[in-house]
Amino acid sequence: MKLDVIIPSYNEDGNIEIIHKELTKVLKDIKYTLIFVDDGSTDHTLAKLKDIYNKDKRHVRVLSFSRNFGKDAAIYAGMSVSNAEYTVVIDADMQQNPKYIIEMLEYIEKHPEYDQIAMVNNYENEKGSKRFLKRIFYKILNRLSEQKFVAGASDFRLFKKNVVKALVKIGEKNRFSKGLFAWVGFNTYYMSYEIDERYSGESKFKFRKQLSYALDGIVSFSTKPLKLATIIGSIISLIAFIYIIEILLETIIFGKDIPGYASIMCVVLLLGGIQLLVLGIIGEYIAKSYIEAKDRPVYVTKEVIGYDDDIL
Ligand code: UDP
Ligand code: MG
Repeated sequence: MKLDVIIPSYNEDGNIEIIHKELTKVLKDIKYTLIFVDDGSTDHTLAKLKDIYNKDKRHVRVLSFSRNFGKDAAIYAGMSVSNAEYTVVIDADMQQNPKYIIEMLEYIEKHPEYDQIAMVNNYENEKGSKRFLKRIFYKILNRLSEQKFVAGASDFRLFKKNVVKALVKIGEKNRFSKGLFAWVGFNTYYMSYEIDERYSGESKFKFRKQLSYALDGIVSFSTKPLKLATIIGSIISLIAFIYIIEILLETIIFGKDIPGYASIMCVVLLLGGIQLLVLGIIGEYIAKSYIEAKDRPVYVTKEVIGYDDDIL
């Protein structure tokens, strides 16, 4: 059995040594390769990766991006060079204990009907606000998307080779990995785990980034928000129609004066707001199509260590 472990790393110079040490300890009885993907780090991550490569050339491989392309691009790059029977994706920050890799491997060997194992975090160890937002995100996403997402399912996963091949074939530029993992299908087993504290440094997914990531996920995996325009438009037209009839009756039959300015302002502002909102939603989809149409690569590599240069 051969295992590839993909470790996306962005400004993780305080974690590289420990994650390498812990993975080495845990995987000692397995044939494995550690594929570190330096996602355009601006600290000493790449230097640290070169150090561990020089100490452990048998197991360590490094891909380094020309700039920060995001975790999903890093996972994609790692998968593009992976060709082992099993592939695992794990964070570099020790929040996901490498010991679970063995549990995943044991489980999938015993249950060959599964093709993918996703580690699910029950959020118990996460901060209240983050936990709350993640819950809401999954509620909205599941309501809008045809794919079903398990709340708390992380990117900490094990894949069989056929799943990796299917994922690499998807050439999308907006790579919302969790969505793609669900989209390709296959049998997924959800295994629960406890998330640990970050060993060093701080999370790259601050509130704003997390929010924009969540919106990207919704736009990538659902077109339902576009239908919103039709629904809102129909409801407002109906209300307007009823109101017109009422006004006509009042003026023609009862000869009443129609009081104007304030109510007209309210309606104009409300409709203007709704129109801009709907335009914004349409804009999000057009922007995504535009990015896909340009067909730029998902990432650009600067250095490849431990592989032949033409691997990518
Ligand atoms: N990461 C990455 N590129 C980025 C942001 C994050 O490769 O642009 C990596 C990061 O180095 C870590 C993993 O993705 O190994 C998860 O990031 P982080 O721990 O910041 O996220 P959180 O655990 O807080 O969701
Ligand atoms: Mg983390």
